[in-house]
Amino acid sequence: MTQIDELKMKVAMACRMLYVAELVDYSGHISIRIPGTDKFLIHGHPVSRCEVTPDDVVTVDRDGKKVEGKWNPPSELPMHIRTYRARDDVQSVAHLHNRMVVVLSMAGRSLVAADNPGALFGTGPLPVYNDPALIHTDEQGDAVARTLGKRDAAILRGHGSVVVGQSIEWTFAACVDLEESAARTCLASTLGPIRPYNEDELERVGKGRRKMSVIQKVWDHYVAKTKLAGLLNGL
Ligand SMILES: [Zn+2]
Repeated sequence: MTQIDELKMKVAMACRMLYVAELVDYSGHISIRIPGTDKFLIHGHPVSRCEVTPDDVVTVDRDGKKVEGKWNPPSELPMHIRTYRARDDVQSVAHLHNRMVVVLSMAGRSLVAADNPGALFGTGPLPVYNDPALIHTDEQGDAVARTLGKRDAAILRGHGSVVVGQSIEWTFAACVDLEESAARTCLASTLGPIRPYNEDELERVGKGRRKMSVIQKVWDHYVAKTKLAGLLNGL
């Protein structure tokens, strides 16, 4: 298996795993940078996220132009491309229409670390991109990338989120933590004011959360869970 084949396989697996984690449905996507290049891999626009195969993954260049593959890329591709162009450190981008993050944004709230999954995202509320329209142009993609800044995730008001990482495993684990923390924040908010972690708590908990062994553990768990659900069949 070549390096490209392996990356395509990871994209296909991550799509199915995000589906099992209920973080994507018929929409939402995850992409990966081909290391050392300005080319990116992402699954085809019309393909169900629960049955993506490596053959459904397309290659696009830094202008978002398809250079290989049988499908058109997702319509919100500019969010991925413009984020990669703004962030050399980012190796994988996910875009989710995740329920609890959207619920928070509907109430005009962002996410502040007040539990261990939330500590992955560091200090201060996550940035919020206020325009709920889908991201179809380079200008919109640039605006999302500016909102994201140096952070690992941004909330798209009424729409979902964008999550980035140093590997597809990292991005996947961050997607899981983001939605879990948003769900807990929504629940806790019904009981009273949120009590955010202080800097010391954030530092200590966040450090553990970002360990590669923990990131890999999350990935491996969802591989097993997706396999158990019969949704890795055919890969
Ligand atoms: Zn979207």
